[in-house]
Amino acid sequence: MRAVRFYGTGKLLEIEDRPVPEPGAGEVLVEVAACGICASDLHMFDGSLPTRGTPPFIPGHEAAGVITKVGPGVDAWHEGDRVAIFPGKRCGVCSRCRNGDPIERCMMPANMGIEFDGGWAEYVAMPQEALVRVPESVPLEQAAILCDAVGTPFNAVLDTGALRPGERVAVFGVGGLGTHGVMLARLGGASFVAAVDTSPAARERAKRLGADITIDPAVQKPSDAIKEATGGEGVDLAIDFVGANSVLKQAVASLAIDGRAVITGVSGDRIHLGPSALFAVMRNKLLSVMGYQRAHLETLIGLVASGRLDVSGSISARLPFEQAEEGVAILREKRGDPIRVVLTP
Ligand SMILES: [Zn+2]
Ligand SMILES: [Zn+2]
Repeated sequence: MRAVRFYGTGKLLEIEDRPVPEPGAGEVLVEVAACGICASDLHMFDGSLPTRGTPPFIPGHEAAGVITKVGPGVDAWHEGDRVAIFPGKRCGVCSRCRNGDPIERCMMPANMGIEFDGGWAEYVAMPQEALVRVPESVPLEQAAILCDAVGTPFNAVLDTGALRPGERVAVFGVGGLGTHGVMLARLGGASFVAAVDTSPAARERAKRLGADITIDPAVQKPSDAIKEATGGEGVDLAIDFVGANSVLKQAVASLAIDGRAVITGVSGDRIHLGPSALFAVMRNKLLSVMGYQRAHLETLIGLVASGRLDVSGSISARLPFEQAEEGVAILREKRGDPIRVVLTP
């Protein structure tokens, strides 16, 4: 099969012919229809995100496709089933795995496209518990981007952030993930959504997707603009999709009393939020997410199938494997303000 392999920081991605993986017991073989390129892939390639994986390996953790083979002991899945892939494998030995907890609760999971070969390939073998069924009405390329670009903001806004109808939300960074953060805040019943981004095109898009106000942090201090727009109170929920301490600081400064801030974007920045007395007086909460839960993916596929959530505009480009480097460059340079670029075999 054709696959894109990562050979280490500073090296080019290679297109290679690799053996088709054989599904083991409890596993299925999925023919990949589409797999997204994520900002975390970029960080892994440029070395800013340390990886536990040992190059060379096949990246890609945002994949959907069709089952072409099932391994021994698989009864719930069949050849021809359309599936989205939760990008992890459980360790099977930690206390939670021994307790029979869901796959995303594993304390030592292996990550797809890092610690084991991912979806930038024609085929990928996965444990059956990582799969979520995709109905005919949901295009596989849309199912693919639900597997991170929409799944992670779903977790940040609706699960970890626990948005309740009528609450006010601020989204910091409205790129690939934050754009969906705005959409999901609206879907979750937010009464007010502020979108903060330095890119005029990203702000314009956030406005189209339902942000009530947009803020250019280069022009106006976001916390001032947000307090002004909320009668001096601030927002109940602020999500940082950027991962810079300066942004997180603004997110926390935008909170109302009892407000929650959720770290979703990550970097090597040290967290510094100002006086602890102020944080305590405001009774603020600082939360974080890494990825999402398999159940979130199931919910999102249902929302897209029912027409409640439209992510058809979120695929900015479709490129063949041969143009993986090009796709990475589009994302890194934010050429045309992309939301998601997907690779297709
Ligand atoms: Zn990702
Ligand atoms: Zn485990």
